[in-house]
Amino acid sequence: MSGEFVAEPATAPTAAMPDCPHCRKLRPLCVCDGITPIENRVSLLILQHPQEQDRTLGTARLTAMHLTDAVLKIGLSWPSLSRALGRRVGDPSRWAVLYLGSAKLVNPKGEGEIVAINRKGEVEHDQRAILESIEGLVLLDGSWSQAKALWWRNPWMLKCRRLILGPQRPSRYGKLRREPRRDGLSTIEAAAMTLSSLEQRPAIAQAMHASFERMLEKYREFQAEQPGLAPKPRRRRDFRRHRKL
Ligand SMILES: [Zn+2]
Repeated sequence: MSGEFVAEPATAPTAAMPDCPHCRKLRPLCVCDGITPIENRVSLLILQHPQEQDRTLGTARLTAMHLTDAVLKIGLSWPSLSRALGRRVGDPSRWAVLYLGSAKLVNPKGEGEIVAINRKGEVEHDQRAILESIEGLVLLDGSWSQAKALWWRNPWMLKCRRLILGPQRPSRYGKLRREPRRDGLSTIEAAAMTLSSLEQRPAIAQAMHASFERMLEKYREFQAEQPGLAPKPRRRRDFRRHRKL
């Protein structure tokens, strides 16, 4: 089973506009022509909640397009990491999930740093060895509550390492997104930070951030030209008060 698929509800009037076949965004929001895929060493698997498929501000497909080794799956549950990925994974502990829960960092590192934590939310002792051993990263795409549903419905993630992001600048989304992830980051920002840190290649983050900025710029232009087609930002809800999983 490759996950349950729920069709995206057609939402007028944008439903009538043509999508780009690659990023599936409305043409005025497409930034595909500026993307050159990077050969990544750490594989990426993005699991997207079926209700997330945001054709305007979503970034999962855009993230995957930046990498030669990335898989995007839409669904709610898969029996194993191998089945979700579509190829066999020998040792799931060499994969990591960007964890949604909170953890106390005693000595937080610099911006963009990632930290491996154990199941109790404590910082693992052998950080360097763990981070160097990671072959693949799982990202959960959706709002905080959608990502939480994906976490609970896929218990194989317990076999994976857990990573959390250290101090970070606020999301480039600003006030555009209504229901942000707990960490407030878009999927592309989370991927940029985590992969560039794991691979120690700032170029990965630079490329992804540049595309994201372009996408947001196009969104703002589109919204200004056709306010009826792109939803106006509403007040953000702060999910950080409900951190515990
Ligand atoms: Zn496109």
